Amino acid sequence: MFEESKSPAQSVSSLGEFKLIDELTQSFKNQLKSSVKGIGDDAAILEPTHEQILVSTDLLIEGVHFNLGYMPLKHLGYKAVTVNLSDICAMNAIPTQITLAIAVSNRFNLDALKEFYAGVETACKTYKVDLVGGDTTSSTKGMTISVTAIGSVEKEKACRRDGAKEGDLIVVSGDLGAAYLGFQILERERKIFEVNEHHQPDLDLYAYLVERQLKPEARKDIVELLKQLDVNPSSMIDISDGLASEIKHLCKESALGCKIYEDKIPIDPTVVRTAEEFKLDPSLCALSGGEDYELLFSISQEDYTKIKANPNLSVIGHFTGPNTGCYLVGRDESMAEITAQGWDSFRD
Ligand code: ADP
Ligand code: MG
Repeated sequence: MFEESKSPAQSVSSLGEFKLIDELTQSFKNQLKSSVKGIGDDAAILEPTHEQILVSTDLLIEGVHFNLGYMPLKHLGYKAVTVNLSDICAMNAIPTQITLAIAVSNRFNLDALKEFYAGVETACKTYKVDLVGGDTTSSTKGMTISVTAIGSVEKEKACRRDGAKEGDLIVVSGDLGAAYLGFQILERERKIFEVNEHHQPDLDLYAYLVERQLKPEARKDIVELLKQLDVNPSSMIDISDGLASEIKHLCKESALGCKIYEDKIPIDPTVVRTAEEFKLDPSLCALSGGEDYELLFSISQEDYTKIKANPNLSVIGHFTGPNTGCYLVGRDESMAEITAQGWDSFRD
């Protein structure tokens, strides 16, 4: 966990900006031919691998988007990269490069920043993307991180939010709700630790949930899988805020309604068990929890046979005509309107 800077020899201010950038980035090696010039000049030079380029930026503020109380810096570095790559994947594209800007207060020493960059490097290697630039500056308080991800895609193959057609099937990758419960587990441990600092958390039972919260993955594998299966989704988005909010985005942008079937939503048994422990509805965790970073997309009905056998993909519903509303069909066949928070519960 994060330690305050004790040794002045390792303080960032004594190092100077150029030495610091060098210390943090020297182990990064470019992996892609398309990274013609990376770190070390006024700007990076990239040579696109496909006709269309995708660019996406996220800003992460300490205390707002992350809490170093339970987020180890290495995980933070990993997550800062993967959640950005997820946005590129959500366009059905392959991420290729990132740039990373950080602002840190003198609370952070060199070792702490190296931890953070170790996580960044692991993510870059895992996803075969190159860190090609960034900026480093001081802040008066806390840590701010900005990541820009770059990717490329064949012309006409990018999947936007507005491309769904009436009757298209709604598909989700992986399973939902785990990252939210992972957060609940970490919060519970933090509160116990506040009153008893000798408390040793036993997180084994919840390992999957905590991992989904601390180490989310971008579903680049799904983009590759869809290409292999020759499926070109009509619309796509990644699930950062919860299924309910994301499906509403697709409906709004595509000017359609939808029906989602509660019993089709993929939920891991650990999520069901832990939701019960917290007296939460597992479906609500999936609908409103967020941070799962799975892909939500639509395909034409003709493409159903291409994906139906795949254990990583679940068909959870379909798009309905314009102005028909977004509905969740419950296990008891009740219909409830989906709201960004989950659903309007007519049932209790
Ligand atoms: P400039 O003065 O032109 O902004 P910098 O000294 O900020 O240049 O950066 C020098 C090089 O190091 C540039 O290639 C820049 O992209 C890269 N760089 C700076 N900070 C970071 C960082 N935190 N992570 C990765 N690369 C960085
Ligand atoms: Mg600079």
